[in-house]
Amino acid sequence: MEVIYIICFFIIGLVFGSFFCCVGLRLSRNEKFINERSVCDNCHHTLAWYDLIPLISYISLKGRCRYCKEKVSLLNPFIELVTGILFALSYYSFGFSLELVLSLSLVSLSMIIFASDLTYMIIPDEVIIFFSIVILILEFLLNGLSGVALSLLSGASLFFFMFVLMKLGNALFKKESLGGGDVKLLFVLGLVIDPFLGLITIFLASFIALPVSLYLLYKNKEHMIPFGPFILIAFLIVFFSKVTTNDIFNFLTLF
Ligand SMILES: [Zn+2]
Repeated sequence: MEVIYIICFFIIGLVFGSFFCCVGLRLSRNEKFINERSVCDNCHHTLAWYDLIPLISYISLKGRCRYCKEKVSLLNPFIELVTGILFALSYYSFGFSLELVLSLSLVSLSMIIFASDLTYMIIPDEVIIFFSIVILILEFLLNGLSGVALSLLSGASLFFFMFVLMKLGNALFKKESLGGGDVKLLFVLGLVIDPFLGLITIFLASFIALPVSLYLLYKNKEHMIPFGPFILIAFLIVFFSKVTTNDIFNFLTLF
């Protein structure tokens, strides 16, 4: 029975992933994302339902538009697949519980920002505000008012830390190193993890980002890469590992 649920969450994730990609891209372009038909970015032909089946359409059309045969972005199937996997992992990790709702919300937040930040280097404020409210409501249901207060304190500390880091980086490199969006992102993630795990997340994100930026710099002299996706990858690793600050301190005292 368990396996059937996991498969169900995977399929639901595929469908939602397609929606998240669309939300992330359309919010960044200031377009409406409800009640508007999807079109091909190249030939602007309206896409039929059978062109929009997550993953399957992409594979059966070999990554090309049915109408103009132009290659379509790999972003859509990528976000769909990752959302499917992370929805299944959420159910596997938390079962039917409030934590599952929290986990699905965090995956949703991450995938929308992944799409918008990778494509346009934008982290839409609407996404940050919407998910901050959702997370605080869940925090209230899980841990009451004191939980909400602690979450806000943690979110504010990480926001402040990231803000100082951004100002330092900008002064040091004489150009924008971190965006305001990254600072706001740390606030919403800080609502879920404590400040120490937040610092671990930032450290881990830089650790993953370094080889990727060096490679891109070497490949095509691209010097602007969004940091948001790296923060989110690191955050999801920390979140799903269920590691706590105590675990890390206990580990460190072994030496
Ligand atoms: Zn087309």
